[in-house]
Amino acid sequence: MVDLVIRDASLPDGRKNIDLLIADGRILAIGPGLAAQATAGETIDASGYLLSPPFVDPHFHLDATLSLGLPRLNRSGTLLEGIALWGELRPTLTREALVERALRYCHLAISQGLLAIRSHVDVSDPRLVTAEALLEVRDIVSPYIDLQLVAFPQDGYYRAPQAASALERALDMGVDVVGGIPHFERTMADAAASVTALCRLAAERGLPVDMHCDETDDPQSRHIETLAAETIRFGLHRRVAASHLTSMHSMDNYYVSKLIPLMAEAEISVIPNPLINIMLQGRHDSYPKRRGLTRVRELMDAGITVGFGHDCVMDPWYTMGSGDMLEVAHMAVHVAQMASVEDRHRAFDAITVNSARIMGLEGYGLEPGCNADLVLLQARDPLEAIRLKATRLVVIRRGTVIARAQPRVSTLTLGTDTRTVNGADYAPFSAGPSPSPMHKD
Ligand SMILES: [Zn+2]
Repeated sequence: MVDLVIRDASLPDGRKNIDLLIADGRILAIGPGLAAQATAGETIDASGYLLSPPFVDPHFHLDATLSLGLPRLNRSGTLLEGIALWGELRPTLTREALVERALRYCHLAISQGLLAIRSHVDVSDPRLVTAEALLEVRDIVSPYIDLQLVAFPQDGYYRAPQAASALERALDMGVDVVGGIPHFERTMADAAASVTALCRLAAERGLPVDMHCDETDDPQSRHIETLAAETIRFGLHRRVAASHLTSMHSMDNYYVSKLIPLMAEAEISVIPNPLINIMLQGRHDSYPKRRGLTRVRELMDAGITVGFGHDCVMDPWYTMGSGDMLEVAHMAVHVAQMASVEDRHRAFDAITVNSARIMGLEGYGLEPGCNADLVLLQARDPLEAIRLKATRLVVIRRGTVIARAQPRVSTLTLGTDTRTVNGADYAPFSAGPSPSPMHKD
């Protein structure tokens, strides 16, 4: 019994005129010519537009989002003033206000086809009101969004007096992932010790690790090396993600030639945050100013899974953002100079399949048996979706439509000439060779 039919879709792997049959919240069949045989309550005509699995954000801060201006604005716009400002706001936070802001962001995310988010939760305040609030939010949104929480010691695992015990309590409460921030510890030695302690904790509890790592322009900030080595030592292969790694931008090339193979050996994933990195890094430079984004293409070339994160929306660190992962990919394409057809497809993978793999999402993808979680975009292919930051026409969760938007079309009146303009009609005649296949492991 088919519940929903989607006809005439284009897929991220380049296939055209594809139909999907959906039953019991899952993809029953996918291929050409299926719609004609199917009877169903509802049929969606994709009209050749791109149908993708939903966007996935592997790095966000739901406890800080939409707090812009509370209690004041970040005057310098730097990472460190942002941390100080968050420290002023934190004691005033209430569970109710945190839940309200986080849910408001989740509604925005759903409208943007963003149905999986890994959010860090600051555990520096031992009241743990942040963890309580976001665990409540995780339950509320679970029918619509896969929300994963990371116990994040924003003020340092060793530097903040009660952070270690609070982090363990947050894990006891049900937070999913072990976080860290080695570059914010007092010394290099403390930083290395924090990486070891947190990897040990993750190994003992059978949890993944996701650290803010080397979010600095200092080329001597090399905690990723320790994280990779400890990942190997504790047998945490494929369970560890390193977020930011901006110091790699400034590292010596010879050192990086040794580091990247070590990271590949540890099967560490990398989560750059292009919007935030380009905004916050290089602040001590005059000119030329460094970009501060990690070495995205080189990491991908080494077979390392790279997923792009949004990180912040209207909070102490970043005044902008709209829950739009295509905007994140758009910035990455520019800053990492991912201009080729292949690289732009890799940028789309970094906000979909790669990030799903980092989060360990089960049933993600466009195969029979996968969850019927889908987004229909007003664009012909992934490259066009990024270029246009395409409108999400339909968002589907487990086979049910949960968001719809009107296509973005303008009507022009030019003297006696009236015409409509649809940005998606400006697609190039050829988008080049067929894109990379969806990951299937
Ligand atoms: Zn972050």
